[in-house]
Amino acid sequence: MALTLSEMKKKAELIFITTPAIGHLAPVLEFAQQLINLHHHLSITVLCMKFPNTPSPSDSYARTVLASQPQIQLIDLPEVEPPSQEQQKSPEYYVFTYVESLVPHVKDTIQNIVSSNPNPVVGLVLDFFCVPMIDVGNELGIPSYLYFISNVGCLSLMLSLQKRTIEDVFNKSDPEFLVPGFSNLFPSNVLPNACLNKDGGYVAFYKIAQRFRDTKGIIVNTFSDLEHDIIDALSDDHTPPIYAIGPLINLKGHPNPNLDQAKHDLIMKWLDEQPESSVVFLCFGSWGSFGPSQTREIALGLQRSGVTFLWALRSSPTTDNEEKTLPEGFLEWMELEGRGMICGWAPQVEVLAHKAIGGFVSHCGWNSILESLWFGVPTLTWPIYAEHQLIAFMMVKEWGLAVELRLDYRRTSALVMAEEIEQGLKNLMDKDSEVRKKVQEMKEKAKKAVLSGGSSFISVRQLIDDMI
Ligand code: UDP
Repeated sequence: MALTLSEMKKKAELIFITTPAIGHLAPVLEFAQQLINLHHHLSITVLCMKFPNTPSPSDSYARTVLASQPQIQLIDLPEVEPPSQEQQKSPEYYVFTYVESLVPHVKDTIQNIVSSNPNPVVGLVLDFFCVPMIDVGNELGIPSYLYFISNVGCLSLMLSLQKRTIEDVFNKSDPEFLVPGFSNLFPSNVLPNACLNKDGGYVAFYKIAQRFRDTKGIIVNTFSDLEHDIIDALSDDHTPPIYAIGPLINLKGHPNPNLDQAKHDLIMKWLDEQPESSVVFLCFGSWGSFGPSQTREIALGLQRSGVTFLWALRSSPTTDNEEKTLPEGFLEWMELEGRGMICGWAPQVEVLAHKAIGGFVSHCGWNSILESLWFGVPTLTWPIYAEHQLIAFMMVKEWGLAVELRLDYRRTSALVMAEEIEQGLKNLMDKDSEVRKKVQEMKEKAKKAVLSGGSSFISVRQLIDDMI
């Protein structure tokens, strides 16, 4: 679907509303930039909220990213009273309640933008937690779009929860259920973390999902070749159109105070010296960390497996020094034998793109998974928090695109022992595995999706067309 010349010249304004967590803000800003690059007469205002008494490192992130983008402006929403003690039942419930209390402020801010802007405001693009703002859009006659930061599988699961009572979901005699578009029954033990918190997280997710169908469209960073079965299953009269616009990957990587140029260069130089596809990269997202005992088991597993590794090691906040948690002599052994490198924050995108990388032990965050598929690196699944168990399940059981270490691991789980890690690493690095072959095929499909004429290329243009 090509935009006509007159459509390309139409000036229009979009308002994005997002929570400040980096995992939400970064993909939303990435998408805003993609839209601006595709449609030069579009301008975007991002309304960013701040949580009370919480420093916001994403502030500086957003300003760095947007410094070179005059068509995107950032407005900070005022900080309001935090939810009452009673409403602090879970982090998700807290955020949802806080966002609800911002509705009048958002309304004022949007009214100001509308009255001072010569261009029509054609849509609100809302982060997952910001669905209460649909009401503001409805009052002001502006349609809302959801920018869903996970995949369509997670979207389908959340919509399916609407048809089940909480008792159904938590009923131990009914541990598996059907989710539209999935070929396997969905096991309750891979539900997102929030859903396991009966009174807080589950209720928040239920209320959020209730609003999805009140939007004019749902934008997802995914691609049709990967999720067509689920997209098809959700293509009905009740569900707004799903725009699969990805993989949208930030190839410049995420700036981080714990990675300076010198550290970055050291990592890349070390990778340059390694043979092709020989290194396993271990990285567990922006929040992933383990306690001392689990860290020791990982170190022992690496030692026993015989693989070379790059390990983004960040231990839990209660441990003051990551390296203190390693078994005695491990660092000396690693350096003497030239068997690995340990870093804190890794330049993940550049690392996955490097030819020395042959496997990725991942917490299965959606961005990490898209990045691994983009560069054709097979994954060993070690989910930890958020909806990572669901993604691990999809990667292993639905798509055969990852090697299973664990699907249902959580922070409260028992230790994964060194022997199991050793075996997982060996399976991951198997040169002839079916998973490796499939990942290569999916890499090609991912690249095709965003090229001229590809499914995501068409979808994002269709979205702009529908918006303006
Ligand atoms: N990331 C990185 N270096 C690290 C850890 C993470 O660059 O040491 C990046 C990674 O490339 C990805 C993002 O941070 O783009 C993490 O997003 P994801 O959805 O995978 O997981 P989350 O951190 O949101 O759980």
